[in-house]
Amino acid sequence: METHSMPLTDQLTREIDHRRDDLIALTQDLLRIPTLNPPGENYWEICDYLSDRLGASGFEIELIRAHGTPGDSEKYPRWNVIARREGARAGECVHFNSHIDVVDVGNGWTKDPFGGELIDGKIYGRGACDMKGGLAASIVAAEAFLAVCPEFAGAIEISGTADEESGGYGGVAYLAKKGYFDPDRVHHVIIPEPLNKDRICLGHRGVWWAEAETYGEIAHGSMPFLGDCAVRHMGAVLDEMEQSLFPALAEKRTEMPVVPEGAKQSTLNINSIHGGQSEGDEDFTGLPSPCVPDSCRVVIDRRFLLEENIDDVQAEIMEVFKTVEGRRENFRYDVRELHRVLPTMTDRQAPVVQTVARAIEETMGKQAEYVVSPGTYDQKHIDRIGKLKNCIAYGPGILDLAHKPDEYVGVDDMLDSAKVMGRSLIELLAKP
Ligand SMILES: [Zn+2]
Repeated sequence: METHSMPLTDQLTREIDHRRDDLIALTQDLLRIPTLNPPGENYWEICDYLSDRLGASGFEIELIRAHGTPGDSEKYPRWNVIARREGARAGECVHFNSHIDVVDVGNGWTKDPFGGELIDGKIYGRGACDMKGGLAASIVAAEAFLAVCPEFAGAIEISGTADEESGGYGGVAYLAKKGYFDPDRVHHVIIPEPLNKDRICLGHRGVWWAEAETYGEIAHGSMPFLGDCAVRHMGAVLDEMEQSLFPALAEKRTEMPVVPEGAKQSTLNINSIHGGQSEGDEDFTGLPSPCVPDSCRVVIDRRFLLEENIDDVQAEIMEVFKTVEGRRENFRYDVRELHRVLPTMTDRQAPVVQTVARAIEETMGKQAEYVVSPGTYDQKHIDRIGKLKNCIAYGPGILDLAHKPDEYVGVDDMLDSAKVMGRSLIELLAKP
């Protein structure tokens, strides 16, 4: 068959279909390197693997260790890989960023979480959908594009970055600080997180994490009136949250297209609660000693909307404590911020959004859906530190399977999303 008379997009489709077995093998290889985070295992091994693969495809490789970031140590070094392939002439750079870490396996698996088994067109393993399947799809998309359009303008970058699941400080945040996402170097960023193959994720809600503590006074548990119970104080706080805060949060709705539907409002999770003596080890069979707890701590996880201001979010929590303070004697407390991320949402008219939307329509024959993620991901660092706004998440895999037992990614979904990514490369880089 003649190829040179075929349109580039048809050549690309054919190239990607030919690479089906390669895409499966690549995904399996990635899944068989257990990159659990915490603690951050095997980052070097997976970066080394990606270096070999992309080096063979003509990419220049940089391996970057995020020295001194949280969790970085000689035992668990935070390695990242950035591969860059220059085109034949000047142009824009399209960057695909995937995190290489996966979360804890957890219980309930019927498949080997690091086996990469292929069953009925699905590849199983921890990280299959979140997000080694997306990483593999972006690699195959780029390689197929290079095969049909070797004389392109601009550059392609593919990065594998550490620690997304624990905040991204040893990964994208570090690289953004070092200038790797500066707008003069990178112009379009696609993060192949599992948002379903026909959806474009424009951004995410904001996060405010805090630890709150109430104080009491220790005394013998048989005479609690001689002490002051910190757990009862915290109980009053939680009760006030139930009465006033949770209903108020449910009223705050956003115009952001957040999925799932339940996340289109402000939310608050009580992440943990701890009061009094620490629990004994599992093998400890004795009884606790009778004491009135003098401290109770909760970690709260507040997710907020583009329409909200972070100062108001904080003030609202402080208001709960002040209300309780007005009612209870000897009520003492502290609220400490642990972590904050502002919400972000890329404009629908941004070039990368428009390009990928057209590619979805042409590949899948349907309109792209625009969504916003309930939780944050590495876009926050590209936006805030890198100052690059032209960024989306787009990739294969079913969002609801992320972090679940028997996580999988569908081979056909990976192929379809690789075609969307490849078509986007044609639109952005196949220029005279
Ligand atoms: Zn992810």
